[in-house]
Amino acid sequence: MIRPIIAGNWKMHKTVEESVNFAHQLREKLSEPVGGDVIIAPPFTALFPVAEALKGVSIHLSAQNLHWEEEGAYTGEISAGMLVGIGCEYVIIGHSERRILFNENSNEINRKIKTALKFNLGPIFCVGETLSERESGQTFAVIKRQIEEGLFNLSSGDIKPIVLAYEPVWAIGTGKTATPGQAEEVHRFIRDTMTEIYGEDTSSNTVILYGGSVNPDNISDLINQPDIGGALVGGASLDVERFIKIVKRCF
Ligand code: PEP
Repeated sequence: MIRPIIAGNWKMHKTVEESVNFAHQLREKLSEPVGGDVIIAPPFTALFPVAEALKGVSIHLSAQNLHWEEEGAYTGEISAGMLVGIGCEYVIIGHSERRILFNENSNEINRKIKTALKFNLGPIFCVGETLSERESGQTFAVIKRQIEEGLFNLSSGDIKPIVLAYEPVWAIGTGKTATPGQAEEVHRFIRDTMTEIYGEDTSSNTVILYGGSVNPDNISDLINQPDIGGALVGGASLDVERFIKIVKRCF
């Protein structure tokens, strides 16, 4: 049985003060053990203070990005070592906002995943099709290509710490969630693709999150699908009460 995950991606929201307040409320309200892993991904500036605020509880910390080089003259960038040094355990890689708004390509995504793995950071590796790709019947081809290119040259042993996230671009921040059936169809395809490349043992142990306008009202139907192992939540993760409702309805 795979342990479910709810991960909150705060994107470019919350000051340090707001982030620490959220973390204090979260630790107070989730003091009882829950049947899955809770991860939050604050902006870089708040990672260290949030790590301090969450000391001693098992709420995990993720970064939203990293650079593939270990160090060097890369003004404005953050390395894997810096993230691990402040208590990060995960990093989001390949989010559609980075692919589309910052022109991140598969080669860069692959390098980031390899660097994260080298530093024992669990990559939350996002894949997903745009609306026009879905409407022109390319969903499966796009997802397969993103997986093959993102995980290029990685063995089944390498990819064990990876969490996959299926995030249809048309559902992100739009209020348009994929139906549980639409989401499950792609999750099943992702698992089959992972089986083809890495074998049954690895694929059946891979957590595949759904992301795209998840909220407290739709999480139960999504999590009931056999291949959906949790959610990557954007907008609804910014409000502590809504986020906790999602966690409690999922686990
Ligand atoms: C996301 O950005 O990963 C996301 C799923 O956002 P939202 O929940 O707001 O659609």
